Amino acid sequence: MKGGSMIIVLKPNVTPEQKDHIIQKIIIGGLAPHIMQGVERVVIAVIGDDRKLPKESLASLPGVEEVIRILSPYKLVSREFQKEDTVVDVNGIKIGDKKIVVMAGPCSVETREGTLSIAQEVQVAGAVILRGGAFKPRTSPYSFQGLGEEGLEYLSEARAKTGLIVITEMMDPRDMPLMLKYTDIIQIGARNMQNFRLLSEVGKCRKPVMLKRGLSATIQEFLLSAEYIFAAGNHQVILCERGIRTFETATRNTLDLSAVCVIKQLSHLPVIVDPSHAVGKAEFVPALARAAVAVGADGVMIEVHSNPAEAYCDGEQALLPVQFKELMVSLRKIATAVGREM
Ligand code: PEP
Ligand code: MN
Repeated sequence: MKGGSMIIVLKPNVTPEQKDHIIQKIIIGGLAPHIMQGVERVVIAVIGDDRKLPKESLASLPGVEEVIRILSPYKLVSREFQKEDTVVDVNGIKIGDKKIVVMAGPCSVETREGTLSIAQEVQVAGAVILRGGAFKPRTSPYSFQGLGEEGLEYLSEARAKTGLIVITEMMDPRDMPLMLKYTDIIQIGARNMQNFRLLSEVGKCRKPVMLKRGLSATIQEFLLSAEYIFAAGNHQVILCERGIRTFETATRNTLDLSAVCVIKQLSHLPVIVDPSHAVGKAEFVPALARAAVAVGADGVMIEVHSNPAEAYCDGEQALLPVQFKELMVSLRKIATAVGREM
């Protein structure tokens, strides 16, 4: 993007007329204003080639306190644009607040009974969000691809019975009506992190979106993908570090815990860590989940299955409900130690 972008911080006592005038000025200049209503004041992001509208001509308008240039390639998701942490509120569950949020459940939704029983167990252990894929992005076309709408129905029933909120993956823009009907949070999987049409599509809806980091995506690419969702109008975005592909083969992927601190500095968005897909082996999941909370993640996503050996997918990395319960006890201690709640 040539020329970069700017944020215009309005004075706390700006009048509606002054605000309209500023917005008109931006539009006449051929640029797009993004208005963010903060707690204390309004800021307007001006995205596009700002050579069309010099910084000085905006800074002198009545009602403008300050004009700041955003240097990073991503704009709306950057810390430069918004200093305070974004808290995504999903039916009262706050993601990115002081409280650590735990999402848990099977890799894929398999049976009605299995889904209900896992939901019950993870809820009792302290999870607040139920995960489970109904559309599965499998490496092989011959692997189980998910139950589709039937799976979404089981998740809904589990939600009604337990009060857990539901997160499930969306792979295809054509499934938006199903997502709107059944899920509380839309998950965009690692393999679709750069499916830009899909990102724009979820950007147009008003459901919270959890975007997982691509298998080989840099942090900058990850944040630019989140920017697509923001730019399309949806500001309820949660990021998820789920391991990246490296030369190491001892684990499924390499969990990039440093990404959590780096992203926290660069962006205001909440960050969840998924140690299950990162390490790929159940025995290492608890230690990495604890490390994630210690390093500043806002929550973790954990795969749990009652009978991992028989799981349709990702059984090697699934915790048994009893192991999940133990993990929750130790996670609470870590959360307290780092000044968080759980
Ligand atoms: C998942 O969480 O179900 C999943 C497929 O993970 P990822 O997209 O990170 O591989
Ligand atoms: Mn999985």
